[in-house]
Amino acid sequence: MASLPTYRWRLAPDGYATFRQLRALGLRPGGQDVAAQLERPRRRRGALVAFLYRVDLALPVRPMTPAKQAALAKANAARRMCPECGRDAGYRIPSSLGTCVPCADNPSQLAA
Ligand SMILES: [Zn+2]
Repeated sequence: MASLPTYRWRLAPDGYATFRQLRALGLRPGGQDVAAQLERPRRRRGALVAFLYRVDLALPVRPMTPAKQAALAKANAARRMCPECGRDAGYRIPSSLGTCVPCADNPSQLAA
């Protein structure tokens, strides 16, 4: 394995960022290999290492597509639907109840 360029902590060159720094910029490494590493020497224990990625190769964090958003909304709606009365409870059905709260409170009301 080719050895990575290693920089001292806080001395990373411009254009490089750690994964967390990329995320703070709304970016992700995007499949690129680690470009360099940061090394922070510690006493007694081994050096702390952080991987650096090239900012110019980073890609935006995948935006949510309309289809994905619709699927998510549908899944949420399904979780709000009470299987007992078939109504949209307006909140997520607690899995401990399995039904909306009125149904859980008055199971006989429906039968009547
Ligand atoms: Zn219900």
